[in-house]
Amino acid sequence: MVNKNDRCRMIIEDISSEGLGIGHTEGEAIFVKDTLPGDEAEVLIIKAKKNMAYGKLLDLIRPSDCRVSPLCDNARSCGGCTLQHMDYTQQRIYKWNKVKSLMERIGGMRSPELIMEGEKLPDGRIMAYGMEDPYHFRNKMQFPVGRGKDGKVKVGFYAGRTHSIIDLEDCPIGHEVNSALIKALKVYIEKCNVSTYDELSGEGLIRHMLTRVGFSTGELMVCIVINGDSIPASDVLISGLKAAAGQYEGIALKSVSVNINKEKTNRILGRKTKTVFGSGHITDYIGDVRFSISPASFYQVNPAMTGRLYEKALEYAGLTGNETVWDLYCGIGTISLFLAKKALKVYGVEIVPDAVRDAKENALLNGIDNAEFYEGKAEDVVTRIYSENLPGANADVVVVDPPRKGCDIRLLDTISEMAPKRLVYVSCDPATLARDIKYLTGNGFEVSRIAVYDQFPNSVHCESIALLDRVHR
Ligand code: SAH
Repeated sequence: MVNKNDRCRMIIEDISSEGLGIGHTEGEAIFVKDTLPGDEAEVLIIKAKKNMAYGKLLDLIRPSDCRVSPLCDNARSCGGCTLQHMDYTQQRIYKWNKVKSLMERIGGMRSPELIMEGEKLPDGRIMAYGMEDPYHFRNKMQFPVGRGKDGKVKVGFYAGRTHSIIDLEDCPIGHEVNSALIKALKVYIEKCNVSTYDELSGEGLIRHMLTRVGFSTGELMVCIVINGDSIPASDVLISGLKAAAGQYEGIALKSVSVNINKEKTNRILGRKTKTVFGSGHITDYIGDVRFSISPASFYQVNPAMTGRLYEKALEYAGLTGNETVWDLYCGIGTISLFLAKKALKVYGVEIVPDAVRDAKENALLNGIDNAEFYEGKAEDVVTRIYSENLPGANADVVVVDPPRKGCDIRLLDTISEMAPKRLVYVSCDPATLARDIKYLTGNGFEVSRIAVYDQFPNSVHCESIALLDRVHR
């Protein structure tokens, strides 16, 4: 058994879901930050638990072939890009293999690689579908705001697994305009003597700055999260943000809003948002569908990869024009509207009221009249419609795109009873996808295809999509 303060030498074999390297010593799994598979490392044990321990990298005896130097100076301290020191092709190979092994271990599948898709390398290995350039792809940023011990304003990111804010000048996975927006916010706070939120005392006004850019339109939205009802001198902030946006060709500030969050909570957004400048939303396109997005709505963060993912969803859905389709966990209706053009009727279900409102507006915006949206929990709405045999009770195709925790079991039961011809499962966590696949394959479905997409380059996150066909009964 290893103990705290032991030193050990090990080869790193795998990566944990949090992005820590995993090695073994004396049969115990050791989780080591800043290491990669293939590294030979000298490690100091900093925390020992039963059967596993956490270690700190002391010395890299032999670096892994996967290593590259990260583009971002903050890559080591930031909790976001945990894989930036890994070669991008290797990241994609790793993600594809991760999905494969979860399908075997949790999904109970034998030889999942036979039905799995991805991009083939010349040597025959397969990797996740990914980007040409894995930087500057992220359309949304959320920067915590606070003050350092010296009283200086800090706008940046939380250091990995902590709540101390590290000041940031630029984030290379986001849009370049963010660095000018951060500067403008700091100038406003200092010039107008505005207080910043302190997590410990729960006092101070400015908590976060959220930014979103429509990559295909250049429309920019800024939302300031505050512990109060309004911000002082909003005209100073607005003109500062406008000038910041103006430094970038093609970028135009369309909306500034404040979101009110007076609770002592880790949740970034509060319930109420007030527009202080512009329209309150921005527009963006995925493929040829136009979307209106408000600050609180979920919108895919990597629009380029999302377009490719949705094309796959459309392919898996196999629509001919006669189908009734459910799009569950539909957000602002992105997948629903993509599918509506090829289906008879699409019903979307989403829990966030603002997103449902956006979804309805987006249908109008695109002249789509065969999509209908329900507000509520997918497991409640679909179960009620099915049990009361209301319109939509006999769907041909069901699409689900749940958050990381996966689908509620009641929803899986209802889908099994409803028995659509095809179920398309879009997932941002392959472990819960594998768990739900296991359940569904025991309840009337079989998996026929799985594709892996790298929506979140440089992070451990991994998107996958599975097609499940109804087994003939
Ligand atoms: N399909 C959308 C959104 C996917 S994200 C897109 O591609 O853009 C998951 C969505 O599920 C979020 O919008 C979240 O608000 C919503 N959600 C979470 N739990 C839910 C539930 N139980 N029922 C319905 N929607 C839910």
